[in-house]
Amino acid sequence: MLKRKHSKMNATETVDQLLKDHRVTIFSKSYCPFCIKVKGLFDSIHIEYKALELDLIGEDGVAIQQALFEKTKQKTVPNVFVNGKHVGGCDATIQAHADGRLGELLSGVHYDFDLIVIGGGSGGLAASKEAASIGKKVAVCDFVVPSPQGTTWGLGGTCVNVGCIPKKLMHKAAIIGEDLKDAAAFGWQVPEQVLHDWSSMVDEVQKYVKSLNFGYRKVLRERSVTYLNAYAQFVDAHTVKVTDKKNKIQHITARDFIIAVGGRPKYPDIPGAKEYGITSDDLFSLKYHPGKCLVVGASYIALECAGFLHGIGVDCTVMVRSILLRGFDQQLAEMIGEHMTEHGVKFIRPCVPTKVEKVSDGKPGLYKVSGKMDSGEIVEGEYNTILFAVGRTACTENIGLEHIDVKINPSNGKIIVDKEERTSVSNVYAVGDVIDGKLELTPVAIQAGKLLAQRLYNNQTTLTDYVNVPTTVFTPLEYGFVGLSEEDAIKHYGSDDIEVYHSFFQPLEYALTDRDSNKCYGKLVCVKSEEERVVGFHVLSPHAGEITQGFAIGVKLRAKKSDFANLIGIHPTSAEIFTTLNITKSSGESVAKTSC
Ligand code: FAD
Ligand code: NDP
Repeated sequence: MLKRKHSKMNATETVDQLLKDHRVTIFSKSYCPFCIKVKGLFDSIHIEYKALELDLIGEDGVAIQQALFEKTKQKTVPNVFVNGKHVGGCDATIQAHADGRLGELLSGVHYDFDLIVIGGGSGGLAASKEAASIGKKVAVCDFVVPSPQGTTWGLGGTCVNVGCIPKKLMHKAAIIGEDLKDAAAFGWQVPEQVLHDWSSMVDEVQKYVKSLNFGYRKVLRERSVTYLNAYAQFVDAHTVKVTDKKNKIQHITARDFIIAVGGRPKYPDIPGAKEYGITSDDLFSLKYHPGKCLVVGASYIALECAGFLHGIGVDCTVMVRSILLRGFDQQLAEMIGEHMTEHGVKFIRPCVPTKVEKVSDGKPGLYKVSGKMDSGEIVEGEYNTILFAVGRTACTENIGLEHIDVKINPSNGKIIVDKEERTSVSNVYAVGDVIDGKLELTPVAIQAGKLLAQRLYNNQTTLTDYVNVPTTVFTPLEYGFVGLSEEDAIKHYGSDDIEVYHSFFQPLEYALTDRDSNKCYGKLVCVKSEEERVVGFHVLSPHAGEITQGFAIGVKLRAKKSDFANLIGIHPTSAEIFTTLNITKSSGESVAKTSC
């Protein structure tokens, strides 16, 4: 029992003295169940503590509780301190024990940050904002290594700067071009020749991107996240070396790390590719009109870029090594190819580039590209811009993973994580494009970053669900899908157990122009033995992304074909086709549409 009646000054001194004298101090009340629980926790880990029961020391207890409030802004007991550092109440102490912080405080270890996130893109920003809002001390290191052509950009990662955002805006520019062609049919008097200005489009898109860069910096500041525009490399499992663009080096430490470094475009290993070619890292801020273009590659990025380039009037050829859109439903992938071909995009396939040579300098210059067809025939062509979209490499090569033994998949350099996104090193996690075997999509990276922070610091247990993630390829006719391709469904369930319902359809928007008749298409892939549960949803249509986002919840919730049939459509829309699909592929009936 404390002898003296405490003045405010004395109470503060008493608290400070107790914290100095004891490794663990618990300000408690003898009857409080939370205090009993917290003392039980220290008993269970055999750590001695000093408990001061404030209810047993009369008015001194009241004065000390007030002094504690002024020191910690915590009114309640228990109020726990370890090695002079405030831990908090019962829940905070139990959480600190669960996440290892209590152990660190007990051993006197101190880190600069609770969490350092390496990479300020979709996944890294989501994780850092979430962790900071839970009250953690967080730093984000984000650094853009210039592309071989010297292009660089601001905070926000691939999606914001050289991915989804500029791509979708340029896709919209192309759609506007198509709409302008249709406008006369709706009574608009549009001049015969409407010209598109590349530089104005790039300027406007880049202005918007810069506003997003600014917005991200502001949000980090508001949430008290330390932003370091610096390149991070592991020195040990709790330390990174960070180097800024002026080559200033510092070492910073953290208890936990999240690696969210994403990926960068690959170049094919052929003469002249890196010297004369560009990638998606350069295209969206290209200062001059690209002129006649060759796009090499046949997946998302290649077809989307070829689509919008052609849509704004660029002469565009795509060199395809094998199939279009590997991993996607091949019926729909080929329909995209046909649609683009009919609209004037040229395809060379199957063909790989073998060399690029300069014909003349300029902005753009002129280059000769040689390619080898599957048949062995050599083809040559001259182009002003060669855009390589042949896949992406995870940025794991130069980040010091060898110093901490984080395991990667040697075939692609991606980081191997468990279902909680933990790497082979217990305090190091990874999210987004850099992790092995998962989808490279912005919303996936965001969800994973956010849920990881919640699990690490807020007692949550929800894992990222990587199954049935909807996606859309923003080609001129968009292709949205969720679930399995028809091929994968057959592989998984066997062809006898699969029923496919499908139809072409004509969006009403096309009615007055009769544009693209029998090009829009919807397909549901169903498992017969599960009452025709829909395991694949596919749509080729304007606004396919919007349509797919809505229907994806049905697929996720295991909707059956009958649920789609029982749903009343919204008329007149393209999406309503999914409520009336009644022709099966196996029937062989025609699904061509001649009118609305
Ligand atoms: P990123 O966004 O790539 O962020 C990683 C960040 O880490 C980068 O800023 C990088 O510079 C930085 N960094 C790397 N190493 C270090 C280091 N050592 N130190 C500090 N910083 C480092 N997805 C969609 O969902 N929809 C789309 O329409 C879409 N379109 C796309 C179009 C294109 C052309 C491309 C290329 C991608 C597109 N994607 C799209 C994919 C999407 O952009 C990515 O899935 C997403 O950006 C991944 O986020 P991330 O956080 O994993 O990595
Ligand atoms: P992918 O790895 O998906 O595709 C690479 C393409 O390049 C394939 O067509 C491949 O052909 C071809 N290729 C590879 N090497 C060569 C070579 N040496 N010569 C010629 N062709 C070659 O990469 P992307 O870059 O298109 O996309 C990366 C990821 O980004 C996607 O998986 C996606 O998750 C994301 N993304 C998402 C978008 C969206 O949501 N709308 C848009 C854009 C990207 P082959 O089939 O023969 O191997």
